[in-house]
Order: sequence, then C-alpha cells, then structure tokens
Amino acid sequence: MKRRRFIAAGTAGFVSGGFNAHKGYTRQSSQTYREPERELPIAENTDVIVCGGGPAGFSAALASARVGAKTRLLELKGCLGGTWTVGLVNCILDSEGKKGIIEELEQTLGERGGMFRNRIDPELTKLIIEEMCLEAGVSLRYHTRVVGAVSNNGRLASVITESKAGREVWNAKVFIDCTGDGDCAAYAGCRFDIGHPETGSVQPMSFLVYLSGIGPLDDLPALSLKTSAERKDWMYRELKRAGIEPSYSRPTFYGIRDDLAVLMANHQYNVDALDPDAVTRATVQARAETAAMVYALRSLGGRWKNIHIVATPEQIGIRESRRIHGRYTVTVDDLMKGARFDDAVCHVRFGVDIHSIDPGRTKGILDDGIKTKPYDIPLRSLIARDVDGLMMAGRNISGDFFAHASYRVTGDSVMLGEAAGKCSAKAALGNRLPHEISIDELDMP
Ligand SMILES: Cc1cc2nc3c(=O)[nH]c(=O)nc-3n(C[C@H](O)[C@H](O)[C@H](O)COP(=O)(O)OP(=O)(O)OC[C@H]3O[C@@H](n4cnc5c(N)ncnc54)[C@H](O)[C@@H]3O)c2cc1C
Repeated sequence: MKRRRFIAAGTAGFVSGGFNAHKGYTRQSSQTYREPERELPIAENTDVIVCGGGPAGFSAALASARVGAKTRLLELKGCLGGTWTVGLVNCILDSEGKKGIIEELEQTLGERGGMFRNRIDPELTKLIIEEMCLEAGVSLRYHTRVVGAVSNNGRLASVITESKAGREVWNAKVFIDCTGDGDCAAYAGCRFDIGHPETGSVQPMSFLVYLSGIGPLDDLPALSLKTSAERKDWMYRELKRAGIEPSYSRPTFYGIRDDLAVLMANHQYNVDALDPDAVTRATVQARAETAAMVYALRSLGGRWKNIHIVATPEQIGIRESRRIHGRYTVTVDDLMKGARFDDAVCHVRFGVDIHSIDPGRTKGILDDGIKTKPYDIPLRSLIARDVDGLMMAGRNISGDFFAHASYRVTGDSVMLGEAAGKCSAKAALGNRLPHEISIDELDMP
C-alpha cells in the first residue's frame, strides 16, 4: 500500500505538521459542534475487505485470500483472535466433526503445544492465526476502527476508518462484517435486532481472570470432578466459603497449563455493548469484583494462599449486540426441528446457552426449556438483506435471540467465516454479488 506522509519532520527531536489540526469547528448549540467538511484519502482499492479479526474474521480473511482474492483485514486491536485473545476465552465449542479451517487450527495448535486439556493458549493462538493469514497473503491493518460506510445505489462501496493515520477510505468489491457487533452493516444502513424479543435484554458480559500460584492443578478437586456441573458447584462453594457471593452463580474454573488456571465468575447484567460509558462501568466493576474474589480466596490459605492474578482481558467479553438482518433469519423453530437447508454452510450441534438476562430470577444460566436438535445455518443468513455487496460472519449474522444463543460459539464462528470468505472472494473475482453465488461453488468442507 502506498504510504502518504502527513507529518513533516522538523528539527531533530521535533515533529511539526498535524493532519488532525482541523480548523473551522463551529459551535452549533449548547450541545453540539459542527465539524468542517474534509477530503479523505483512499487507502486502498481491493477485492474483499473483512472488518474485525476475531474467530469469524480471521477465518473469513484466510478463506478469501486462499481463493485468490486480494483481501484486507481491518482490526481495532493489536492482534487477531477477538474474544479468544483480547477476551481470554480459550475454549472452542462445537468444533467436533467440523473440517476446514477450524480443524486445521486445532491441529496446528495441538502440534505446536497450544492445547492443554482442550483449552487453547491465547498467546499461541494470536501467533498462529496471524501466521496463517500472512502466509495466505491477507493484508493486515491493526489499530484501526471501522467508523463509517458509503453505499452507492444500494451497494456498499467503501468503509471509513479511524486510526493514528486519521480518517481513511477503503474500497472493495465485497465486504464482510465480522465485528461481532455488526458495526459495518449498521453504518451501511442495514436493519438489525438486539436482545430478547420481549424485553430487549441482552445476555450479560463476563470478565475472565488468569490465575497462578495455585500449585499443581492435577490434585485440585475442581479438575478431578467428573461433570462440569460438579466443578461449578465446587467453585461456587469455595467462593462462598471465602465470603463472596459471585455475580455469576455457575462459575467456571479450569487449568490451562501447569500452575495456570482461569476463573469466570463474573456477570455484568444488561450492558449495552454500543454504549462506551456503560461498557466502561461494567469493566471497572468486573475488574474490582474479580480482584476481590482472588483476595478472598487467598485469605482462605491452604491451596489458595499464593494465588495471584497474571492476566485480565483487555476487552470485557461481550456475548451479544446487533444481529444484522440477512436474506434468511435463523429462528428458534429451526433449532427445535433441526432444520436442514440446501445452502447449508455450518451444522450446529451446540444447544441454546443463555446466560441469565434476569438476575432477580437467577444469576446462572437460563435455557427457557428449549430443546434443540442439530441444525444447519444457510448461506443466505450470512448475506445482508438491506445492502448489496455485504456479508456477515460470526455472532452478528441473521438470527433471532435464541438461535444466536446457540450458534455464537467459536467453532461455528470459524465455519461461518470460512463460508463468507469463500463466497465473497468468488463474488469479487467474478464481478458478481454474494447472493449470486451458488452453494456448489463454495466447496465447503
Ligand atoms: C465471556 C464469554 C465466554 C464465552 N465462552 C465461550 C466458550 O467457552 N467457547 C466458545 O466457543 N465460545 C464462547 N463464547 C462465545 C464466543 O467467544 C463469541 O461469540 C465469538 O468470539 C464470536 O466471534 P466473532 O468473530 O463473531 O466476534 P468477536 O470474537 O467479538 O471478534 C470481533 C472482532 O472485531 C473487532 N472489532 C469490533 N468492532 C470493530 C470495528 N468497528 N472496527 C474494526 N474491528 C472491530 C474486535 O476487536 C474483535 O477482534 C464466549 C463469549 C463470551 C463473551
């Protein structure tokens, strides 16, 4: 990519210039300012742009580049992996029996020592998925947030970003929204839903914490107990014994390396992921709560006496926000009847997993008694309904509240990313739109 120089070096140790030093801001009212119009540089013209590099986005970009499309990935943080890496969530659910990129990733992690008791090592995950993308020819841009979109005659033409390089425009033939929150699609004017159909409530956010100083994990009762329910009960009792009533009453606690464990015992209820003040409050509360838990456990002595925090997430874990309207919407009925589709791109076996949206009722899990059967996700639910040239992958695809609570897990996100990447690349290379691509052309594993 051609670099533009915005700043001119002055005398040694002093840099002058200031592309951001816009003049002409005018006060419009007591509440607002008017920003002056400005010309934005076009950073790139490419085939496929993937917005967001989490489990869905890395896979989408990788698949697109492997098909042969010139692919750009725009990511807000300084690494790939999203909730796996900046969120420290390290369990891949619903990957069993799945082929393609998810199988390749698990195999590579295993071979390179990045799997421990079926948990993935976040640092090795960062490195491996970055290497996979670079080897395939994906162009990466970190530290860059998608903040706007431009459509022409109902087709998405560009996204606008902000970074230390200022505001830039990126043009592509096809875009894939993998921001988790559906940012790109929302800026492009797509309609979307958020939360429970009756209350609008969203699943809680959670803050994980990595712990050390517990000694060999093999003799920890939490790890020798057979079922996940028994392990959760044990951890809950330990926290109660330490005088803590956790905001999540079904805490998970597991080892990922010798003397490295993970605790998830926090829920931040009904936080709007699109409101930075609310997310900041939730993060501050969550950090304080998890620290208090660790101090309380330490005060118990015994195996807890040297426990300390070694890492917390840079981004609190967001379970849900926008679900973008697609050409098909996966519904709870599809889950209950085990729907099959001719244009299936992902077969989901994971059930409905709703972390409580009503802490007055429970601080645990609410599945509302929904019994599901394995079901398909059709390609159409990855294609935006309101704007052409735009696909979605990951947790922001088109589905209802209950369906989202099932397919949002990372084994499925990677599979959806792969499908969106292949479809977008085929469309871009053939000067077609994603909805003009047939499932047979995708060669899904
Ligand atoms: C606390 C918690 C525990 C979970 N536990 C599990 C589990 O055990 N197993 C499992 O499989 N799943 C689990 N999940 C679900 C799973 O992690 C997510 O649903 C999954 O990560 C979704 O993948 P994604 O790629 O769609 O989104 P994300 O992982 O959210 O990634 C989105 C990416 O987009 C980037 N981004 C966002 N906005 C912008 C923007 N405007 N511009 C540029 N980049 C942007 C973000 O930085 C991020 O890298 C859990 C989720 C949470 C929150």
